[in-house]
Amino acid sequence: MMIKRKAIALLSGGLDSILSVRLMLDQGIPVTAVRFLTHFGCDPVSSGSCGRDVEPIVKMWGKDGLDVKMSHLGRDYIEMVKNPPHGRGKNMNPCIDCRIMMLSWGRELLDKYDAGFMITGEVLNQRPMSQNRQALQMIDRQLGLTGLILRPLSAKLLEPTLPEIEGVVDRARLLDISGRGRVRQYELARAYGIEEIPQPAGGCLLTDPGYSARLRDLWEHDPDAGATDVNLLRAGRHFRVSPQCKIIVGRDQQENDMLETLASPDDSVLRLSDHVGPVTVVRGEHDEEAVLRAAALTARYGDVPEDAPQAAVTVTRFGQTRTLVVAPARDEEFATLRVGVTA
Ligand code: SF4
Repeated sequence: MMIKRKAIALLSGGLDSILSVRLMLDQGIPVTAVRFLTHFGCDPVSSGSCGRDVEPIVKMWGKDGLDVKMSHLGRDYIEMVKNPPHGRGKNMNPCIDCRIMMLSWGRELLDKYDAGFMITGEVLNQRPMSQNRQALQMIDRQLGLTGLILRPLSAKLLEPTLPEIEGVVDRARLLDISGRGRVRQYELARAYGIEEIPQPAGGCLLTDPGYSARLRDLWEHDPDAGATDVNLLRAGRHFRVSPQCKIIVGRDQQENDMLETLASPDDSVLRLSDHVGPVTVVRGEHDEEAVLRAAALTARYGDVPEDAPQAAVTVTRFGQTRTLVVAPARDEEFATLRVGVTA
């Protein structure tokens, strides 16, 4: 069988994945790159994300045979994160199963885009859990893709793949990078005229201890929580006030906007009437006591003057708005209720 001269790439937008694409384009091999999105931050708009905006690269290299498709892993990815068969890293990150899922979705695209093999920006021994030799071999085997996943940055240190064996890809022009160092990648980036070199990211939100604590808390209290609840974990300070109920207080305008967008009609949404301050969402089954606590927190984190004993807070639920007057919360009242503090 002759391997087709076209590759599917997994493109995070990080430097390694960009360079692996470039190495193929240099050999005249067209690349359809897939940019996977998840609810856990691997997207270009999320801080702390391992994903980056790939638009500049497409602009630069489209003429050389690169095109990019976006694909959201959606609910399937959430379910995998709940029960990853190969376990987790230090936090909630299931890196091996994440790679397996992305590669398996990528495999589906081989026929669709008439491609013969896949490439990734993985570097041997760069990540202890998912990028050691055994893990890479196991992933390829499990997917039935042995010989069809080429890792151009480390290829010379790995078994030759089918496109190399068949001469579709010139192995001599591939690389032998290993480990966590980035010196060679930076040299290559400069040589390729990549002006904005993406800095290495620690990974998606699942590698963040605070985010992971919020996610664990969510699934402990609501194992069937959907995408909206998961997305809410990205924003605000989270206070667990009862097994069924959380209060979420925005920390800046962007988070306030996000909370407003994600709030549902049966959430209570609170804002200060007379001062600048957070948007606060009370989510889950809740009573008046929870709303009063949320109002106190809203006043605590808003610009209420220190000499003002009370502040007015509006509460909107089911389209009805009313006003409460409360004293700002004291930190010690809520310290133990805070979940996953990162900032
Ligand atoms: S850090 Fe791990 S879990 Fe997160 S996107 Fe990267 S490989 Fe997947």
